[in-house]
Amino acid sequence: MLQMKLCGDLVLRQKCDAVADITPELQGMLNEMVEMMRAQNGVGLAAPQVGVLQRFLVMMDPDTETVYKMINPRIVSHSDKTVNMEEGCLSVLGPDNLPVFAHVTRPASVVVEWTDETGAACAAEMSGVPARIVQHETDHLDGILFIDHLAAVRREMVMRKVRKRK
Ligand SMILES: [Zn+2]
Repeated sequence: MLQMKLCGDLVLRQKCDAVADITPELQGMLNEMVEMMRAQNGVGLAAPQVGVLQRFLVMMDPDTETVYKMINPRIVSHSDKTVNMEEGCLSVLGPDNLPVFAHVTRPASVVVEWTDETGAACAAEMSGVPARIVQHETDHLDGILFIDHLAAVRREMVMRKVRKRK
């Protein structure tokens, strides 16, 4: 049973190791993470958020409800064009135990390469919400949280809410 790790837990600040082998254990964790993501109405969840320091994540395109299970994902290129979009994180919760949202500027589109749960090499160009999700989730694999992209004053506004939790 995997447990959600919250902001303040140092596991969220580590750089993850590449996955060497696709094992039944890994496939089980990916499936469990999809369930956790759905249960919390999230659109993405990365391994360190459940305490596993390996490079894998799950995400869902909310428009098509396509679920991606990405092993060793890499953003290989991104657009120069950026877009400002609201983000939240299942590891950054406010007083009501719900994600705290803030606007973050990131590239509008990205090309991502990954290995799927069967071992197949995959690639996709993503824009809009899926591009946003995959950038947020791959950041987690390098110990980066979305609040790190905020100006200090706005980050402090988010952290004030996080500290009010329970
Ligand atoms: Zn997150």
